[in-house]
Amino acid sequence: MALHRHDEVVLLLGAPGAGKGTQARFLIELLGVPHVASGDLLREHRQRGTDLGKAAQSYMDRGDLVPDDLVVDMIVDRLTRPDAEAGALLDGFPRTIAQAEALERRLQRLGGTIRVAVYVEVPRDVLVERLAGRWMCRSCQATFHELFNPPDRAGTCDTCEGELFQRADDKREVVANRVNVYLRDTLSVIERYESHGVLRRIDGNQSIAAVKAALRQAVGLEPIPA
Ligand code: ADP
Ligand code: ADP
Ligand code: ZN
Repeated sequence: MALHRHDEVVLLLGAPGAGKGTQARFLIELLGVPHVASGDLLREHRQRGTDLGKAAQSYMDRGDLVPDDLVVDMIVDRLTRPDAEAGALLDGFPRTIAQAEALERRLQRLGGTIRVAVYVEVPRDVLVERLAGRWMCRSCQATFHELFNPPDRAGTCDTCEGELFQRADDKREVVANRVNVYLRDTLSVIERYESHGVLRRIDGNQSIAAVKAALRQAVGLEPIPA
């Protein structure tokens, strides 16, 4: 059951390391919509050396949020591309109330809606362990974990055979700041969706397969068992 309505978006919320990117790769297959990850898009801009990429650099290296206006323009631009006409899976956006409001304004203009906002919850110490052992593909941004989700061949992406690397912002010092920033700035976004009645909480501290099953249910791809 794919998304039918124009601009019906699913939001994947959760702190850095919660497993959003890992799960997004399964979910987009099921939903038939593109994966729109603000962090991936920002890293692509940095790789291409665009003005946005240069402006975002220092914030990302410290683990601080990139200013709202830059991120909002980037996401709105991405959602305007033809492949996002039936909707999108948003990963890592919105992270502030200003971003949430900008998304709502855009959806309102186009008659779109938020189908569900899924919050993947993981304890802080587990987040740190996950990020410290994370390896990312230079070509397709797929992620692996040296212990919890190792690639078939060390250093090589299972999906595209690209080279795996460890992100500079996954260093322990930066990770602590990223998690704190998330809990400080994004909990209000989660409360907002809770009050709008579109929030589903999922226990992200389980195996990748168990989280996947919980997510299928949360986005309405599987009936809740009686
Ligand atoms: P993770 O994959 O660990 O959840 P992301 O890849 O989403 O982290 O984000 C990496 C960095 O990109 C963040 O630390 C932040 O600097 C920037 N970033 C990503 N998404 C946003 C956003 N919605 N608003 C502001 N900054 C963002
Ligand atoms: P996010 O996009 O939310 O920052 P990722 O999907 O990149 O998170 O996952 C962070 C790290 O944790 C990666 O190294 C990934 O392989 C690993 N990981 C993801 N889900 C799980 C899980 N359920 N159990 C253990 N490790 C996981
Ligand atoms: Zn790859």
